[in-house]
Amino acid sequence: MHSRLVILLGLIKYAWATRDRDLLDWCTRAYLFVKEKMSSPFGWVPESLDKGTDPGVSNLVYPLRDETCGISDMMQIAAFLADHGRPEERFTVGRYGANQLFAHQLIDFTPFARLIGDNTGRVDTPQTSYRNMPERCLGAFTAGTYPNELTVDLRSFGGPEHHIDAAGCCGPAGIKALCVLWREAVQRKQDSLHINLWVSLENDDVSVRCEEPVAGQLHVQVKQPCEELVVHVPDYIKDAAELAVDRKYVLKERELHLGRMRGGENVTVTYPLVERTNVEWIAGEEFQVRWRGGRVVGVWPPAKGCATYWWRQCQPPR
Ligand SMILES: [Zn+2]
Repeated sequence: MHSRLVILLGLIKYAWATRDRDLLDWCTRAYLFVKEKMSSPFGWVPESLDKGTDPGVSNLVYPLRDETCGISDMMQIAAFLADHGRPEERFTVGRYGANQLFAHQLIDFTPFARLIGDNTGRVDTPQTSYRNMPERCLGAFTAGTYPNELTVDLRSFGGPEHHIDAAGCCGPAGIKALCVLWREAVQRKQDSLHINLWVSLENDDVSVRCEEPVAGQLHVQVKQPCEELVVHVPDYIKDAAELAVDRKYVLKERELHLGRMRGGENVTVTYPLVERTNVEWIAGEEFQVRWRGGRVVGVWPPAKGCATYWWRQCQPPR
């Protein structure tokens, strides 16, 4: 999938640069097909298209997994479309970023401890490293998960049943996706500052803290003055009238216009954090996906190796 999506991203940019409307429409339809028919709403993007063997290559069984590369491609396409006439696609960047992209980054090996083999006494070679691998892989991005499972089954390749796959391609792809998420989340347009996506981040202009999935609160501290602070209400909040804001604002469609802000001023938005369990068909299989606001907190059936969203632990749906 990655090899196709990265070409699609290039084609979209080419179509825009050459004002080729037909090509742009075709590319947009291809992107929407991958998003709506093949991927999950939280950003699981299939890497291989079919389960089963690839007789042209070998008799190995290729597991239907995703890769950070594909997530990153989709986020880059969504961001380009959002910045060129389809602003609603910015929410795709936020939903993929705050869920499956974050899940892919290896920042804590605690749940994998029982899956990591004993390498005591083994010596690193030019081809293979054994020592302190968890510590040396911190921050890497995985190159294979199932919708409910962070490890992949590589038994048909002679590997383990629960394999943590941190590939060289997915590390830089993950960093690029984080960069896209940060760039789309907060944008300064002339004198106005826009909070487009509700994710925690800090840059020269602003410090944003989103309390999801623990609480329905967004804290914004403006660092550099602006003539107008605009907070865009995410698509998962159905009624913008349910928001409580601790300073004067004007609601224009789904934007909170908060007027002039001085450096150091704060605003907090409080809202009901809606919980729901959606039944989703992903890659031909049924999953129950538990959401709290815009964050996935669990996917069922349960994982055998390590749950994708173990770091947002939640009880199974009743
Ligand atoms: Zn990759």
